[in-house]
Amino acid sequence: MLLLDGKKLAKKMEEDLKNEVKELAEKNIKPKLVTVSTVHDDSSYSYIKSQKKVAQRIGIDFELLEIKPDQTFDVISELNQNENVHGIMLAHPVADDLDELKILKSIVPEKDVEGRSPENLGLLMLGKPSFLPCTAEAVVKILDEYGIDTKGKNITIVGRSTTVGKPLSMILLLRNYNATITVCHTGTRDLVEHTKMADIVIVAAGKAGLINANHLKEGSIVVDVGINFVNGKLVGDVDFESVKEMVNAITPVPGGVGPVTTTLLMKHVVDSAKGILSK
Ligand code: NAP
Repeated sequence: MLLLDGKKLAKKMEEDLKNEVKELAEKNIKPKLVTVSTVHDDSSYSYIKSQKKVAQRIGIDFELLEIKPDQTFDVISELNQNENVHGIMLAHPVADDLDELKILKSIVPEKDVEGRSPENLGLLMLGKPSFLPCTAEAVVKILDEYGIDTKGKNITIVGRSTTVGKPLSMILLLRNYNATITVCHTGTRDLVEHTKMADIVIVAAGKAGLINANHLKEGSIVVDVGINFVNGKLVGDVDFESVKEMVNAITPVPGGVGPVTTTLLMKHVVDSAKGILSK
């Protein structure tokens, strides 16, 4: 069984990004990411803290703006215009009285480094991707890194969220991935039927232990996006112990998709800073 080591890949990407940041510094450009938070949320805050750490290691400026909900559109408008800001991240969830979609629409697509705006999601749908949603992109980045060919493969995705499952299905339908995709959700009648016929199973359901050996065929490849806390321990959606002997390759949790997701967010900020160079 091959362990698809996301932590190792993220480290490698980080080294490349550090070099790119140095090259930008020679042109007096310092990539900057600003996170806008409209309400305090513990899990969102711990995600922001880890982003800050990774940004600092790479040499990206990181600023957290904790604002009052009624300041949101003015703040976004200022950040859109500020040439020293290359990426804007909207912390999720937003304050109760705010419309998250309306805020995402107000971020200029060139600074939407999370790939969450309707414009960037629409471009993906049209087969002309710009910034991709980082978690979905992290899955294909891991497959690419380990030379796992998706062309002509049957891939079953468990989960249809706008953050992971849905955009991932669109990425894997792009001609360079050319996979045949099945997307499962809580309305799926027989989950096992769909996971068992798949060459590659990608699970993003947020349910610890949802997938076990009974769900997979021998020699399949598994990417576990899930993040769950069970008795204070971080686990994925796949029962790792039960499937490890029968799969060809699998991502661990922690140390799989998570670190690659955060590093891709940073890559988008650096790419955005480079885009401003070429204007
Ligand atoms: P979400 O918005 O809650 O979506 C979960 C999806 O899974 C939904 O489409 C849901 O179906 C489906 N689902 C839930 N239980 C199911 C079941 N028993 N059988 C079949 N489908 C089921 O979650 P998300 O934001 O996509 O996140 C999914 C997981 O990935 C979470 O654990 C989250 O913490 C993790 N995550 C990890 C990263 C990372 O960087 N590693 C980033 C983002 C998210 P319905 O649509 O029918 O409800």
